[in-house]
Amino acid sequence: MSTAAPVAAKTVPLLIGGQWIEPAASAWEEVFNPSSGAVIARTPLVGAAEVDAAVRAAAAALPDWSATPVVERARVMFRFRALLEERFEEVATLLTREHGKTLAEARAEVNRGVEMVEFACSIPALITGEILPDIASGVDAECVRHPVGVCVGITPYNFPNMVPLWMFPVAITCGNTFVLKPSEKTPLSAVLLGELLAEAGLPDGVFNLVHGARDCVEALLTHPQVAAISFVGSTPVAKIVYETGTAHGKRVQAAGGAKNHLIIMPDADMDQTVKQLAASAYGCAGQRCMAGSIAVAVGSAGDPLVDGLVNLGTAMQVGASDPALSAAAESIGMGPLIREDHRRRVASYLDIAAEDGAKIALDGRQAAAAQSGDGFVLGPSVVDHVAPTMRVAKEEIFGPVLSVSRVGSLEDALALGDGCEFGNGAVIFTRDGYAAREFKQRFNAGMIGINVGVPAPMAWFPFTGWNRSFFGDLHIQGKEGIQFYTRQKVTLTRWPRTDESHLDPVWRSGR
Ligand code: NAD
Repeated sequence: MSTAAPVAAKTVPLLIGGQWIEPAASAWEEVFNPSSGAVIARTPLVGAAEVDAAVRAAAAALPDWSATPVVERARVMFRFRALLEERFEEVATLLTREHGKTLAEARAEVNRGVEMVEFACSIPALITGEILPDIASGVDAECVRHPVGVCVGITPYNFPNMVPLWMFPVAITCGNTFVLKPSEKTPLSAVLLGELLAEAGLPDGVFNLVHGARDCVEALLTHPQVAAISFVGSTPVAKIVYETGTAHGKRVQAAGGAKNHLIIMPDADMDQTVKQLAASAYGCAGQRCMAGSIAVAVGSAGDPLVDGLVNLGTAMQVGASDPALSAAAESIGMGPLIREDHRRRVASYLDIAAEDGAKIALDGRQAAAAQSGDGFVLGPSVVDHVAPTMRVAKEEIFGPVLSVSRVGSLEDALALGDGCEFGNGAVIFTRDGYAAREFKQRFNAGMIGINVGVPAPMAWFPFTGWNRSFFGDLHIQGKEGIQFYTRQKVTLTRWPRTDESHLDPVWRSGR
């Protein structure tokens, strides 16, 4: 963070009540193009005053928007979806520019986000209530869903497009208004989403955008007019958000970090497994909460697995992913990390692992050294013979470092999951149905893959992290998302027969 605003970089605007505003913030965060290391924008780090203005704008827009028929609210999402499709390449390229993931990864991210908008388009069919006539004699019961009010989204840097789209399309179509606080490291995609929402005809104040870090988040968590908070980010912050938000009477869903195990049984198709493992561990340069982090080789799987990973990792092309900077960007295998300090932090785990007694089978610093330019590139690494007590086995690295642990049996692999504080994803590669079933039933994580390297649920299913990978009850995505953004109202009705003397005689005789 710098306190002096760089003059040349574009200021990232806030969106409050339909107005784009460049605030006079006293602190700023630089936004980098990770492919070149250049500063491309500056994010204002705003505090309580701007948050209050945004929440008030959302609260002011709430009565009209919540009274707008749900089919009309969904129509805005249909138009928003059409714009995302029309501007698909622009959205994906901006994502690559501010985050560093490859264009193929950016396109995949936008597709996952579009699916969330499609899900939101179907909300009129999903939000219907229930009725039971004659729950007691002459009494009818009905249960309908109401919006909760002003909802807040606080999102991480690693999916600047998709994670906001996990939240606001569902919240808004359910009749709520919204304040988004994207990551200060990658705020530009959120600005583009705000522009497209306005173009789609969303009324002013229904979607608002603020930027900042800790102070901004604290102001959102404690604002009396905020009803619900969706958070995605690291576990320590997820815990703070959950505890502070609920202490202030808000409903909170807070998704945190991860340490995902990938179990390789000796009977697995090794060629396919190595490809899927590499895609899982090195996709988005390992900056995914569903990234494979520890490959657990059972029995004889260890040597062929490590050989295959080292060969594949050595051949992987790494470098700049921004097509404006490199003609090779379209074919690049792995892009840079988000920041130089993050690259250093991730690389430091290679020294930590070696000091703890693990073997560095492939060192990503060598691929990085072969690169020209100032991008934040780090090649893929493989760390072999990792024991459960080592820091690389316990801590979320969030970069392209895949640990390999060697165990004797499936039971040993299941025990590693039991000892893990996180519980996002876990995968097994096998041809054995019994092993797969045991794994599915017993592994200590909420999202399971069987011969699927990244078992991230898509829009229609909840994102079901367990343990310290999630704080709250109702998860993001799927029908749970609709439950989170609505509250139920039950009405019991009785219409006793009345004295009919005042009724029209013709109508009365027909009763
Ligand atoms: P982060 O926790 O540093 O930041 C997330 C958000 O919290 C940002 O908007 C940031 O401004 C805000 N924030 C940061 N520190 C704060 C503080 N002390 N108080 C209040 N707010 C604060 O996470 P990140 O580095 O942007 O993203 C990476 C993390 O997100 C990883 O741990 C990854 O596993 C996790 N993640 C989880 C999921 C999931 O679904 N479980 C999905 C994507 C990312």
